[in-house]
Amino acid sequence: MTKQKLVIVGNGMAPGRMLEHLFETAPDLYDVTIFNAEPRVNYDRIMLSPVLAGDKSYEDIIIHSEDWYASHGVTLHMGERIIGIDRDAKTVTSAKDRVVHYDKLVIATGSNPFIIPVPGHQLEGVLAYRDLDDTQNMIAAAARGGRAVVIGGGLLGLEAAAGLKNRGMDVTVLHIMPSLMERQLDPAAGHLLQQALEARGIEVRCKANTKQILGSERVEGVELEDGTILDADLVVMAVGIRPNTGLAKEAGLEVNRGIVTDAQMRTSDASIYSVGECVEVGGMVYGLVAPLYDMAKIAAADLAGAPIAGFKHVDTPTKLKVTGCDLYSVGQFGEGYEEIVLRDAARGSYKRLIVQENKIVGAVLYGDVADGGWYNEMLKSGACIEDMRQTIIFGQAHQGGGNFDPVEAAATMSDDAEICGCNGISKGTIVKAINEQGLTTLADVRAHTKASASCGSCSNLVACVMKSVLGESFVQKAVEPVCSCTEHGHEIVRATIKKAGLKSIQAVYQTLEWKTSEGCAKCRPAINYYLLSEWPGEYEDDQRSRFVNERLHANIQKDGTYSVVPRMFGGMTTPDELRAIADVADKYNIPTVKVTGGQRIDLLGVKKEDLIPVWADLNKAGMVSGAAYAKGLRTVKTCVGKDWCRFGTQDSTGLGIKLEKFLWGAWSPAKLKLAVTGCPRNCAEATCKDIGVICVDSGYEIVYGGAAGLHIQGTTKLVNVATEEEVIEYTGALTQWYRETGFYLERIYKWANRLGYDHIQDVLVNDPEQRRAYYDRFVYSQQFAQIDPWAEFVAGKGASEIEPMAEIKLEAAE
Ligand SMILES: Cc1cc2nc3c(=O)[nH]c(=O)nc-3n(C[C@H](O)[C@H](O)[C@H](O)COP(=O)(O)OP(=O)(O)OC[C@H]3O[C@@H](n4cnc5c(N)ncnc54)[C@H](O)[C@@H]3O)c2cc1C
Ligand code: SF4
Ligand code: SF4
Repeated sequence: MTKQKLVIVGNGMAPGRMLEHLFETAPDLYDVTIFNAEPRVNYDRIMLSPVLAGDKSYEDIIIHSEDWYASHGVTLHMGERIIGIDRDAKTVTSAKDRVVHYDKLVIATGSNPFIIPVPGHQLEGVLAYRDLDDTQNMIAAAARGGRAVVIGGGLLGLEAAAGLKNRGMDVTVLHIMPSLMERQLDPAAGHLLQQALEARGIEVRCKANTKQILGSERVEGVELEDGTILDADLVVMAVGIRPNTGLAKEAGLEVNRGIVTDAQMRTSDASIYSVGECVEVGGMVYGLVAPLYDMAKIAAADLAGAPIAGFKHVDTPTKLKVTGCDLYSVGQFGEGYEEIVLRDAARGSYKRLIVQENKIVGAVLYGDVADGGWYNEMLKSGACIEDMRQTIIFGQAHQGGGNFDPVEAAATMSDDAEICGCNGISKGTIVKAINEQGLTTLADVRAHTKASASCGSCSNLVACVMKSVLGESFVQKAVEPVCSCTEHGHEIVRATIKKAGLKSIQAVYQTLEWKTSEGCAKCRPAINYYLLSEWPGEYEDDQRSRFVNERLHANIQKDGTYSVVPRMFGGMTTPDELRAIADVADKYNIPTVKVTGGQRIDLLGVKKEDLIPVWADLNKAGMVSGAAYAKGLRTVKTCVGKDWCRFGTQDSTGLGIKLEKFLWGAWSPAKLKLAVTGCPRNCAEATCKDIGVICVDSGYEIVYGGAAGLHIQGTTKLVNVATEEEVIEYTGALTQWYRETGFYLERIYKWANRLGYDHIQDVLVNDPEQRRAYYDRFVYSQQFAQIDPWAEFVAGKGASEIEPMAEIKLEAAE
């Protein structure tokens, strides 16, 4: 049987989903051809904000890879816009003059972002926020730093603002209405949201009407109607979208606000369907994916010749993907309804239920959003709330006075109950997949049903459904908590510090609801490190959150005395330094002087009361702390290299000294040891270090991820480079990436195992911009790090901080 020709214009989320359904039910009915104006495959547009914020990459958000199209025999023309539809000839014509015949056509052209036509809107540096190109342009602008003005205080504008702030820009949001997200939030919730954004350093100006964008070629500022002028290096307009209907209109299809379809997604031409944001169905247009996915399912069934029930409007809840700003809004609110309101200002929580004739018609929750899904269920089912009016605002936990068990609640939900709003997945679909396919992990359920695969905010609910079905057999993703003070793992703690702009240990405890008020010996040093690494120059190191070795800048030994190691860059020293060390050993009766495995000299057996005078004398001789105790750079070991050795090809000692001068002072998740060796004979043992450099005829081979302690492991090659400058850039970039994403006490080899050696190599070697950005951030943070702690103590700073706040006595094992 010859297949019919199905042509799709636009390759966004809606037609992507439609094809999945179509291939499930009628895989052989059509030859499919897709034209997409964007030069790429289908990706999850919802996740552009996490890409902007730096939490995901483009690769992470691809929905269908090129392989997927190939395996389904789909012809995909990327970067090829359709410019005309000839309904009589049943053909489409592309901008590349390709003419393709169709039996059935689907128009899925999505929306265009609306650009306010104020003077200056066409200047360079004025962007919309719609696709990956916009996102990448914003990321590039943010890398240059400066000030961003985001016009529009709706969902998209606020996500853009938070992302740009995350990337280090000063951000101002201009919103024309008196409160933020006024279409979804009432003024009280909008006010709480504004406060939360301001608390993380985003300036918000409501009732701000943009008069013009200033600048000659590039944007330089924004002028408001009231005469205020704001500097701006970047302006993002996120003021709304318009269904992209031009093509349909020119083809003579019925178009109103959107392309008009019936409930089966058929346009006014029986051969042409339309799905997605470009559609107007039942008089409504949509801008969230849940209804678009309904359209996709209905159109696919119709195309497959097995029609299902037509499209019906359902309110879709709105959530904001900005960490720490929990809000939930669904349904109607406004004048003329009854309201039930609960405010808890101290907890930053606000709930408003909008009620009509004892039925919920809307809900606005800010702060405490756990009951959003429950209220939405009642809204959708039209449940009568008369019996629980007194307590309904307190949430599901308080109905009937019993303890709230979320697993029990999931068990009692109906099969129709929607669990994943983004993907429109019901409880019944999840339960069926678990039972029929033997799924036991969240990742499996995500892969098979797509539940929680978009924004992920329903992951907990999906987990509860799984527990209610599987009981003990449910395999909870093993997230190792930081310690017993919390249930959160390191990843969440690091991400929250960054996203929520937390700048103190207490703020972390508060935000992540720590179970203890002062933490413990495991979490305090970890959080102190994360804050230091995230906010160089801003967060002040909390000495009291360090182990005794780091607090006293010397290693405590088993008899209670200390060992002191002055730094010798690259393992080199001078007679003057040696004399000063010998004098210090004599003067303070230090019993043992030993050369360490890292080529430094260790003064062992220093009494606690002598520490400061010993440091003072070593400082006077020009020596600084060797940080032999630190979760930071320890040593760069070298061999003698070409100056002395017959085999040496390069100046390994000189390069070791340069590297150590560049890296010293940098705190890292765990100790960091380097070596530079003058030829592959490897006398400096570079191939078991955290980072090693091997001088070879053509230049330098950089290796990393070695270990020679309790765990023994050889290094993996990162790259070969030609110059010392490149060695330094790669080393700085690798160190910084590790510093930014390593878990406290996670050695570089464990970190690399977690991230993947191939991935690390891919980013650092194939993406020079990214490498440079890591390197630059390392250089930036070093200006605040290269301060000798001995000298600070000698000068009197911090002595009072020697006493611990938390009892942090034992060095946590590696
Ligand atoms: C930053 C951002 C965050 C979002 N967050 C959320 C969220 O949290 N929750 C939620 O539910 N929704 C969210 N959305 C909205 C959601 O992404 C959209 O509703 C959805 O992607 C629209 O899908 P679509 O297939 O209708 O159109 P689109 O995904 O816009 O796809 C349309 C495609 O058609 C192409 N095209 C247009 N004209 C032509 C032509 N003539 N020829 C060929 N190709 C053409 C375009 O290039 C585009 O690739 C967000 C959107 C953005 C931009
Ligand atoms: S590594 Fe090579 S250059 Fe260095 S000391 Fe050994 S043999 Fe000589
Ligand atoms: S190898 Fe063991 S005993 Fe020797 S210094 Fe290191 S930790 Fe101490």
